[in-house]
Amino acid sequence: MANTLFTNVRIIDGTGAQPYSGEVLIQGNRITRIGRGSRSLPTAGVVVIDAAGATLMPGMCEAHTHFGWVNSKTLDAIQKLPHEEHTLWAAQVAKQYLDHGWTSCVGAATPKPRLDCVIRNAINAGQIPGPRYLAASQEITVTGSLGDDMLPHLPYPEMSFGCVIDGPESMRRAVRMFLKYGVDQIKLNLSGDNLVPGADARTNWMSDEEVAIAARETKVRGKRLASHARSSESVKQSMRHGIDVIYHASFTDEEGLDMMEARKDKIFVAPGLSVIIRLLYEGDIVEIDRSKATALGYEVELEAAVKSMKAMLKRGVRVLPGGDYGFAWAPHGENAKDLVYFVKYLGMSPMEAIVSCTKWGGEIMMMGNELGLIKEGYLADLLLVDGDPISNIEILQDRNKFLAIMKDGQFHKAPETRSARTRVTMPAA
Ligand SMILES: [Zn+2]
Repeated sequence: MANTLFTNVRIIDGTGAQPYSGEVLIQGNRITRIGRGSRSLPTAGVVVIDAAGATLMPGMCEAHTHFGWVNSKTLDAIQKLPHEEHTLWAAQVAKQYLDHGWTSCVGAATPKPRLDCVIRNAINAGQIPGPRYLAASQEITVTGSLGDDMLPHLPYPEMSFGCVIDGPESMRRAVRMFLKYGVDQIKLNLSGDNLVPGADARTNWMSDEEVAIAARETKVRGKRLASHARSSESVKQSMRHGIDVIYHASFTDEEGLDMMEARKDKIFVAPGLSVIIRLLYEGDIVEIDRSKATALGYEVELEAAVKSMKAMLKRGVRVLPGGDYGFAWAPHGENAKDLVYFVKYLGMSPMEAIVSCTKWGGEIMMMGNELGLIKEGYLADLLLVDGDPISNIEILQDRNKFLAIMKDGQFHKAPETRSARTRVTMPAA
């Protein structure tokens, strides 16, 4: 494909710096030159896209993705989909993320053992469209906690979206199995969750012996660990065992925050606020009205999560958007609502919210030296946005506002050649 020059763009580079007008040249899959003002870069032999002042920003990263969640009303419904349909479903969800501007996603657990790896491999092989993807294991859990959906009279492990282990040796076997399948990240459910009867968000489930074995086996293979950790003890347990990606971290105390601050350059937190906020305020869709949501503990958890995230941000911990989209109350595709939640609840500026899904996104993808910024030499994952997300962060929820979506130097969505907003000029033959 020909090289591409975006000209007449307002550049948000992802570092948090003030936007500026300029031009960006893409050669192959990389950003090779950036110019300030107009007509600063050569146009010979390149496709020129005159964006008429539209915003060019790095592609966004979703830090807690489940391609395998099926937009269901309940957790146990996820596993009712047979393997074949589930694979097709996950493939179309992967495309949906790219359609909505998420050019990178971090897999946070998959409901069938190999599903995430299969989808990642198909994306990388060019068989299906999708974001850059780090594939996850199933959520490894213990009997009775989040992810164990077995019924007493139907003892079939396949009914659970989690992989249920009990004891260190059972953990070792599970972790080795997922590493054999090729996951990038092992997920452990350390705390409970308010959706699970008898295992609410503040309860703790996994023993230190079990977590230690998982950490050892994962690190031996050079892979990464993530935790579902809503309770204050589970956050500390994550820190004790060197877990780098902490999902939720709603409840924290001073000791836990100190431990996080000590590892702030290594760790990432994705609170997944959608579950709490949507169930609390819009849960009617799944027959959870406000009083039921409050009884389940969501009012208390929201207050704690907001306090925890603000404290983490103050201490320099990276807090990223994304989390548990793929339920009836928050279906896939609505993920950019998290950016609005960050502004509304956590007190981030829109620019800080954009940094959290771009610069920090490249970092959680373990590609911080080449992904997540508009910078010379970086990979060309770019969004051309009709409007200004700094003055209105809400527009990033609207896929129609993306005039162009580029991943790895290739258009997933090319600008319309006859659009009123952009003008594309092909190079002379
Ligand atoms: Zn999740």
